Amino acid sequence: MNKPLLQKWSTPFEMPPFDLIQAEHFSEAFESALRIQKTEIEAIAQNPEAPTFQNTLIALESSGELLNQTSSVFFNLSSSHTSPKIQEIERDMAPKLAAHSAALFLNAPLFQRIDALHQNRMNLGLDAESIRLIERYHLDFVRAGAQLKDQDRIQFAQNAEKLASLFTAFSQNVLADEASFCLVLTQAEELDGLPDFVKSAAQKLAKDRGITQPNAHAITLSRSSLTPFMTFSKRRDLRKQLWTAWCQRGENAGPHNNEANMREILKLRLAQAQLLGYRDFSEYALADTMAGSAKAARDLLMRVWEPARLKALQEREDLQKLSGLNDLEAWDWHYWTERVRKEKFDLNEAEIKPYLQLNKLMEAMFYVAHKLFQVNFKEVKNIAKYHDTVTGWEVTDAHGKHVGLFLSDNFARSSKRSGAWMSTYRDPMHLTQSVRPIVVNNNNFSQGAEGQPTLLSLDDARTLFHEFGHGLHGLLSQVRYPRLSGTSVLRDFVEFPSQVYENWLMQPQILKQFAVHAETGEPMPDALLQRILDAQTFNQGFATVEYVSSALVDLALHETTNLDSLDFKAFEKQTLASIHMPPAIGMRHRLPHFSHLFSSNSYASAYYVYMWAEVLDADGFDAFLEAGDIFAAEPAQKLYEHIYTAGNRQDPMSAYVAFRGREPTVTPLLTKRGLA
Ligand SMILES: [Zn+2]
Repeated sequence: MNKPLLQKWSTPFEMPPFDLIQAEHFSEAFESALRIQKTEIEAIAQNPEAPTFQNTLIALESSGELLNQTSSVFFNLSSSHTSPKIQEIERDMAPKLAAHSAALFLNAPLFQRIDALHQNRMNLGLDAESIRLIERYHLDFVRAGAQLKDQDRIQFAQNAEKLASLFTAFSQNVLADEASFCLVLTQAEELDGLPDFVKSAAQKLAKDRGITQPNAHAITLSRSSLTPFMTFSKRRDLRKQLWTAWCQRGENAGPHNNEANMREILKLRLAQAQLLGYRDFSEYALADTMAGSAKAARDLLMRVWEPARLKALQEREDLQKLSGLNDLEAWDWHYWTERVRKEKFDLNEAEIKPYLQLNKLMEAMFYVAHKLFQVNFKEVKNIAKYHDTVTGWEVTDAHGKHVGLFLSDNFARSSKRSGAWMSTYRDPMHLTQSVRPIVVNNNNFSQGAEGQPTLLSLDDARTLFHEFGHGLHGLLSQVRYPRLSGTSVLRDFVEFPSQVYENWLMQPQILKQFAVHAETGEPMPDALLQRILDAQTFNQGFATVEYVSSALVDLALHETTNLDSLDFKAFEKQTLASIHMPPAIGMRHRLPHFSHLFSSNSYASAYYVYMWAEVLDADGFDAFLEAGDIFAAEPAQKLYEHIYTAGNRQDPMSAYVAFRGREPTVTPLLTKRGLA
């Protein structure tokens, strides 16, 4: 087995044999995979027979099997467990893969076949799903430049290739700044205010990082390390130090500075959009979304912005009153918010945390899936793993039939990028036979110390449920074609299945059953539960403002056409001033590390999608509240049929209406955030 990526895997569930795969194997596997798909594509494009759905679309969907497999293993590792060697291959492969993809979309004879089928699609005797596949491919090709001529075509392909390298460079810079920063604390007074769970997580981090100083505690720029420190540390100077490092990721002078990457990415995007006849990248990006235009996205954001801003200003007054500070700064917000929360609701994070054990909350998320969709999760120990702490779960349906494999990779480490995400090692499809998916959820939780359970914050717990919502969207898919299956939906719809799932976490019956104390095993007391529920809209002014401001900066940035002289820092400042950003709140992501925008095109000019999806999720979950049962069979069945299993089989608004019986309204979102 010296070429494990090129052989058929006989491992349980056909998991990649991670113990045999070395970073060196990827280059050769990629080269073969690209060569094979190139031959396959040429055969389709040059087929002397007239184009048919079978010999063109199905052939295209079936092509690139090795490439999909190699890419999924490689990019999962590069996100979850990277190494200098993998990073090197990534820098080498990114432009090659982009060139390959560009060549596919710019293959003129291939596009002619698709175009012919597209023009005649209603007369081919195809079902709705197959017609949608033709439409989707046609649009993919058009948006990738297939209708461009001569020099424009070449330019478009070259730009795409350059963009891919820049995305890689941007991400690697952010990771480098995150991985290199570590605040090491050894003195008791530096730990002032930190509860035990923060201290023990920090001790473990120090140990993991090989820090040998006595009494060493490490705080890193992973949110799960940073946020608790900002919440509890009495040391304003250290909070400032940490906050500053957090905000400057990608902006520090030196080899990891992202400014040139950002400018070049924006210029290339603008050029791409203008080649295709759009005014700017925003117009291009939003044309293929549920929102349909930047105006529609901005209208929603602004509808939320004003009430959120007023609420945040009120929250700030509360913080100032309690702290006595008249120079409240961004690094004070979490700390004083926690104190106000304690005063208003008699609630503090340290009191809640022992009830939020990771393993119990995973049980809860599986339980909810079982109650809603009759699926079962059973841990499997004999699977191949790329890291010890990953766990695997076989998913089966009510009849015991295999649905998919779910991998859970929960813990932060320096070889993993920050944030939380779902991805796949294998996508679900049914072309000639049923292929069931392998789905992975990644989180960045701080692992409990040796022998101790991992405890989450409420935010972490929400993230756990969120990613699992994406996970189910991949796992439950019953769509035939890979291009339309699982999470391959429009980007402002893809957050709906994930966000709606978060709602079940905060239900009393779920918390009562699964939020049990780590030491005593006692369920969460009713009074505490009630205080948590009462506090749900607390600090939502802040949370909404930090998010919406980032989304508005994103839209404005991608509408900018004068890029040569653009000063990013000044641009952020001006945009925030124009919307009257409340003082002492930072953007959730500043531009130099805004990976959503600059690590790929997926969320560029599209950071608004979370709010768009939240309209759907708040309105959608109301269906269960209206039914008086969070597991009510009828909405659960419709949610399953039209959303979680349905991929991109139909237009997203039609899918939503089929689930809900009507279009969504914004009011439930405003109510949920306490902004109505
Ligand atoms: Zn998500």
